[in-house]
Amino acid sequence: MYVKPHKIPSVFIIGKHLATRGEAVYGEKTFGEYRVWDPKRSKLAALLKKYENLPLDTQQIVLYLGAASGTTASHLADIVSLIYAVEFAPRVARNLVRMAEQRSNVIPLIADASRPDYGHIVELVDLLYQDIAQKNQADIAIVNAEMFLRSHGYACIFIKARSIDVTAKPKAVYQSQVKKLKEIFDVMHVFDLSPYYKDHAAVITRLI
Ligand code: SAM
Repeated sequence: MYVKPHKIPSVFIIGKHLATRGEAVYGEKTFGEYRVWDPKRSKLAALLKKYENLPLDTQQIVLYLGAASGTTASHLADIVSLIYAVEFAPRVARNLVRMAEQRSNVIPLIADASRPDYGHIVELVDLLYQDIAQKNQADIAIVNAEMFLRSHGYACIFIKARSIDVTAKPKAVYQSQVKKLKEIFDVMHVFDLSPYYKDHAAVITRLI
């Protein structure tokens, strides 16, 4: 098995697979201590397949909105220093809490990101990661960035076009969200996530 380092520290390439190193969480394939990170199961892995220079590093503190059961958050936890993982659906959050019990650098928060009442727990973060598929997700990103993102910190925002407007063309939806995000962010890149995810985009931004 030949393991190559990725440009991003703590990410690896094994054959055609992306991988991180850590304890397996959700039945993913493993090669020894390496966990395969499937771009069809994680939008962040899909984004890494498209763009290698994501602003991710081992020192970062991350606020993750929409952690669900923690699939992506578990890989991100193998990379960064600390994750505040917010999820509002108690049923899926159960697995997130279980995952956080195995990883001391994940703090699960069962909370609504549109009403961020976690200010007494969350500190200033380096990266805001949002994957919530909500109509008002740009507003939610802005509120959270204003409260928790350090100046010039990055945000990585995933947009599912059909969750915002089923009738509009996906590109038009991405543009409307980007326009809103420009109120407080420099928008650096917008990536379409096909073929891994249909009608999804990732927006990489930096707080002005
Ligand atoms: N990021 C996850 C991953 O890659 O493993 C998948 C996230 S899933 C597409 C979206 C999640 O966002 C759902 O679990 C949903 O309950 C959560 N969500 C949606 N709106 C939210 C809100 N306002 N606050 C917190 N969580 C929210």
